[in-house]
Amino acid sequence: MRRKQSGTTARLIVPGVLALAFLWFARATHLPRLAAAPDQPALVTLSIVGTSDLHGAAFPRNGLGGLPLLAGYVNNLRAARASDGGAVLLIDSGDTFQGDVESNLSEGAVIVDAYNAMRYTAEAVGNHDFDFGSVDSPTARQLPGDLRGALKARAAQARYPFLAANLIDDATGRPVEWPNVRPSVLLHAAGVTVGVVGVMTIDALRSTLAANVQGLRVAPLGATIATEASKLRAAGAEVVVVASHAGGRCERFDQPADLSSCESESEIFQVAKGLPHSLVDVIAAGHTHGGLAHQVNGIGIIQPFSRGQAFSRVDVVFDRRTRSVARIQLFAPRRVCAQPDPITENCVPATASAVPTKYEGRAVTPDPAIVRVMAPALQRVHTLQATTLGVSLDVPIRRLGDLGSPLGNLFAEALRDAVPGADAAVINNAARGLWADLPDGPMTFGRLYDVFPFDNRVVRITVTGAELGRWVAAEIRQGRRGGLGISGVAVRAGCLADGIHVDLLRTVGRPIHDEDRLLAVTIGAPTLSGSLASPAPLGGVGPTENAPIVREVVEDWFRRLGRLAQGRLDDATHRSPEYADAQTVDCVALNASGRSQSRVASASPHRATP
Ligand SMILES: [Zn+2]
Repeated sequence: MRRKQSGTTARLIVPGVLALAFLWFARATHLPRLAAAPDQPALVTLSIVGTSDLHGAAFPRNGLGGLPLLAGYVNNLRAARASDGGAVLLIDSGDTFQGDVESNLSEGAVIVDAYNAMRYTAEAVGNHDFDFGSVDSPTARQLPGDLRGALKARAAQARYPFLAANLIDDATGRPVEWPNVRPSVLLHAAGVTVGVVGVMTIDALRSTLAANVQGLRVAPLGATIATEASKLRAAGAEVVVVASHAGGRCERFDQPADLSSCESESEIFQVAKGLPHSLVDVIAAGHTHGGLAHQVNGIGIIQPFSRGQAFSRVDVVFDRRTRSVARIQLFAPRRVCAQPDPITENCVPATASAVPTKYEGRAVTPDPAIVRVMAPALQRVHTLQATTLGVSLDVPIRRLGDLGSPLGNLFAEALRDAVPGADAAVINNAARGLWADLPDGPMTFGRLYDVFPFDNRVVRITVTGAELGRWVAAEIRQGRRGGLGISGVAVRAGCLADGIHVDLLRTVGRPIHDEDRLLAVTIGAPTLSGSLASPAPLGGVGPTENAPIVREVVEDWFRRLGRLAQGRLDDATHRSPEYADAQTVDCVALNASGRSQSRVASASPHRATP
């Protein structure tokens, strides 16, 4: 979002040879070829607007984005198409729900409420759309049951289809058939028959919580699109659009055919290059959080960055006489900005006196209807956030202490407490594992949720004293000692001639020997937020379906703590690796590889993995 993305449009004339190929294709498949009514203009425009990777960003941040304002742009475009007899198709390319708290605590319901009111056409399912697992209770506890329950509930709530043509159910060998989740949809817009296919990246199921996608696999995108698009053509589709939770990344948007500013290995380029000519007209891409307005193999590919801060658009100009696409016109991703600062071009929050930005010749104003439809789900979220956990903190508990992580220690303590017989708990807060400090004052569910918004589960692993020691030493060696959270074990770190060395002691002071076997507890990977407590070096055990949810364990711990002395909290948070003296601290710091704590401190709390 650093460079100017608005204003420039580029025209793409489908080469004559491709148009001929399409005519051949249309004839070959015996499509009905309706002539235009005599009083209609020959050309009609379908404006296809793409959103993707919203990640729950329903509301603007620093004047940028927000669904009510996005709806304002779409409303203006719809007015323009209404005046020339065309139509607007609104396509989302997935990773819609996981991200901001308003969406997460409603499991995406607040977003679907808005999308319904915005009259979306269809959306592709993305990898993070599986993140919520089963349906939550009204108190935001995950209920036992179908681990795809939350996603299915969103699809059932939507008045537009969820598309997932290459998501295969292992049990049937066919695309999943859940209510309102299907491979494709055929629809009519301004008298044109349009087919929309949805697909997800080949890596989708490796980029979400493993337990939630058991029994599913992802089929290759190219072959799936070719098969499904051919079916749609045979069923009468005159324009085929792919909603793709797979994408690419380019830096410039002024020349659609010029890919020199693009990442050439982009997944969606490879897919587009492999498709038969003239089978697909448009791909609305996503997943990489990049921007696209490019032409590959005659296909117009658009992608809008992420978090609703911009939208993408391509116009398909359709010739009613020949019943074929006359040309497509690609637009650079357009920022969703209420009021650009005239000098810096940065987006600033709109004020009453501000002159609103214009789109399609009209002032863009946030649509109050979208604000209204989101209100009930939002109210439920605010009530949840304000729920107190029965504890008040005298001082903030921070992620990073001088030597250890007070908040990491607290999480480790809660995890160890939850597993009877556990000797130790370890978590690594180095790379955005815990997303916020806990402020002082009454402890609420909302504050805990801000720290750990994910549904990762508790994992138990058996390790030797030597293995645990090596892992802790490796973490300290990487300069991440402030990110380490430990419970049940005291760490004494020192410097020897061959580098950093740690001794582990049980908290009662007895040493832990190399050959001792320990039951340790940590957070199940993969995490959605970086390299939090990777158990891989400790034996690579994955989370189990029925293991407790980490956040729920910590929530329960706080509720119990309310009846315990404050000393328990101090004990839990102040445990850090011990260093013999200041000289040792310096030596350890010198031996650390340079990936310092500042990397932790500067990590953006709002960036999810694609
Ligand atoms: Zn994604």
